[in-house]
Amino acid sequence: MRDESVGPSRTWAALAGATLGGAAAVAYAAVCPAAQVWGRGFYRGGAAGRELALTFDDGPSNETPAFLDLLARYDIRGTFFVCGRNVERRPETARRVLAAGHEVGNHTDSHPLLLRLPPWRVRREVETAQRILEDRLGVRPALFRAPYGVHAPGLRAALELEELTAVRWTVIGNDWRWPAPAIARRVLRGASPGGVICLHDGRETFPSADRQNTLAALETILPILLAEGYRFVTASEMRETLVKAL
Ligand SMILES: [Zn+2]
Repeated sequence: MRDESVGPSRTWAALAGATLGGAAAVAYAAVCPAAQVWGRGFYRGGAAGRELALTFDDGPSNETPAFLDLLARYDIRGTFFVCGRNVERRPETARRVLAAGHEVGNHTDSHPLLLRLPPWRVRREVETAQRILEDRLGVRPALFRAPYGVHAPGLRAALELEELTAVRWTVIGNDWRWPAPAIARRVLRGASPGGVICLHDGRETFPSADRQNTLAALETILPILLAEGYRFVTASEMRETLVKAL
């Protein structure tokens, strides 16, 4: 199931305005970027500067090295939300991500839809990924992104236990299903100061992924945003701009 389209939308905002009772409240809070009921999190930075955070989910994959090469050409540091079992499969690639100066975050172990799991399994997904990243990479991530952007009961406690902050996004490229021009158009239209861009360098926990559309879109997106005066920061750096703004 690939339902990352259930990201921030006016529909959910309208739903929240209409009623916050029962299932509607749970559904709203599960996907609304501003909802804090699932614990500490943010979806954008302060808007004072022209900063953007470029984030990639579902890696590391066979395509990740191509993303590293491309980002190096533009001297851009990004944030990679990796799955524990993808790191187990490609620890060397994950280490290359860190060695290139990028940040790594927790994207669960097996990339499940958390809303379908009981709280104890939600917690295990978060903890397992955290332990794998510590063991294989020697880092303890501070940031987390939920698969499909969907939060769930049990996640708040799991994030608090692991001292993780959830990161959502202001624009998602729909790059698992769209061709490069459509991805580029969407990201360029959605980019704004303090924005968090979500793209993918893998595909869930599949052994291999085809991310050529995402790579081609980035070749269009990056020079345009740089020419517009945007500066790319990691999600942690973006969080700092938010703290300062408050
Ligand atoms: Zn994902």
